[in-house]
Amino acid sequence: MHEIEHRIGGKPVTGARHADVYNPALGTVVARVPLASAEVVDDAVRTAQTAFESWRRVSVAKRQRIMFTLRDLVVRHTDDLARIITTEHGKTFDDARGEVGRGMEVVEYACALPELLKGDHSLNVATDVDIHSMRQPLGVCAGITPFNFPVMVPLWMSPMAIATGNAFILKPSERDPSASLLLADLFAEAGIPDGVFNVVHGDKVAVDALLQHPDVAAVSFVGSTPVAKHVYETAAAAGKRVQALGGAKNHMVVMPDADMVGVADALTSSAYGSAGERCMAVSVAVSVGDAADRFIPLVEQRLASLSVGNGLDDGTDMGPLITREHRDRVSGYVERGVEAGATAVVDGRDMPVDGEGFFLGPTLFDNVSADMDIYRDEIFGPVLAVVRVPSLEQALELVNDNPYGNGAAIFTENGVAANIFSAEVTAGMVGVNVPIPVPLSFYSFGGWKNSLFGDRHIYGPEAIAFYTRGKVVTSRWRLPRQARPDMGFSTGS
Ligand code: NAD
Repeated sequence: MHEIEHRIGGKPVTGARHADVYNPALGTVVARVPLASAEVVDDAVRTAQTAFESWRRVSVAKRQRIMFTLRDLVVRHTDDLARIITTEHGKTFDDARGEVGRGMEVVEYACALPELLKGDHSLNVATDVDIHSMRQPLGVCAGITPFNFPVMVPLWMSPMAIATGNAFILKPSERDPSASLLLADLFAEAGIPDGVFNVVHGDKVAVDALLQHPDVAAVSFVGSTPVAKHVYETAAAAGKRVQALGGAKNHMVVMPDADMVGVADALTSSAYGSAGERCMAVSVAVSVGDAADRFIPLVEQRLASLSVGNGLDDGTDMGPLITREHRDRVSGYVERGVEAGATAVVDGRDMPVDGEGFFLGPTLFDNVSADMDIYRDEIFGPVLAVVRVPSLEQALELVNDNPYGNGAAIFTENGVAANIFSAEVTAGMVGVNVPIPVPLSFYSFGGWKNSLFGDRHIYGPEAIAFYTRGKVVTSRWRLPRQARPDMGFSTGS
């Protein structure tokens, strides 16, 4: 069995406590991951702090060149990273390649660092006085990431943190931890010095040690809402900068004038791609008027032809869920939906399953109401709930009453409806005839309400602000000659 190690200061470090890592398509254990103690975390923070002292002095031009090399290495190793993702996460190989590509975009954005880090300079703001501003790195930054994007989410954080001059400690999900070590190899090969990118595996013990460590300056977290809230509160109370992205319940409003073939394709890929384990998956379709009567039969047709199996096999459309417990939890929600009176147009539990993999077929519910658990909770599986409302106003009311606000979409051919929706919806990322609006790396990613705790969205321009702090220097080189010292508060004359 494969033994996974921490990577601290470029060196492998073993641990005493371990967890099993599964291949969810086979249901078998493929590796053992160490779960760090507070002492291991402390060692990583000290190592990163030492590395930071010299890394922050490396020229911006050199950091930029390293990012260009890293970008090429990520491209060259896309299939290697994707194979690891599929083996431990279960998503299809193509989907995993797409994930690596979306992470790589952030490395590309980090290549523009010299331009992004430029400060302002104003001449002669008072007689012989100039002002310039700069942004400087924070120190040791930690990134705590979820299982569902084991490469993309670490790449949402680490290239930006490191390019801006910080040292970084990644605490990946303990369920699919191996990709983080190939990333560590690529960072090292690109020329990032030992100790600037470190990997510490673990569970709550490791996370809490990072949140409380006095030398961790900033924490970026992506995961479920209860943990995001805990991370935000604990890290903020310890005086750290923190951004904590949480869970989601993404709604897609379908107006009666929408192109229903496009709607059915969008719903199928968005709700069931990656077995619904995407933070931007659409899990609620809000049918305005009779839209559902026309898109439900089309989605049902598409589900009948989906191939569910091992993500490494050609032709697989949907892989397994991450663990047996999670599969059973999702299946329990399907049961509760039926009991609550929703109509199971397609029931994923009917799909025959061979072997021990954590598979569950796709489920499509009609006639779901806002008081049902399948509407209220984030299920994070291949389950789509259709809620019917009479008007756009009521669709907006439903979406805006929901405590999550990651993404929301509207499908319509009516520009007025799209405009009203974009302006009024309380979500951080909005799609108009686009089901999973994950912004490109030169915009930032983040939700509203219970989908994000903190002020800053992740990657893009907001990452420059998050991973640096501002400084303004006011300077004068020709000192005035005065009869008496000016005792007043300078007015800038
Ligand atoms: P999770 O919250 O269980 O775990 C996330 C990280 O927190 C992991 O590294 C884990 O080890 C750690 N952790 C777990 N429990 C903890 C605890 N009690 N105390 C401290 N740390 C703890 O999330 P997950 O199951 O890995 O990922 C799925 C969740 O992530 C979903 O809710 C999904 O919506 C969310 N997600 C959100 C986004 C976003 O951008 N908003 C992106 C991806 C995933």
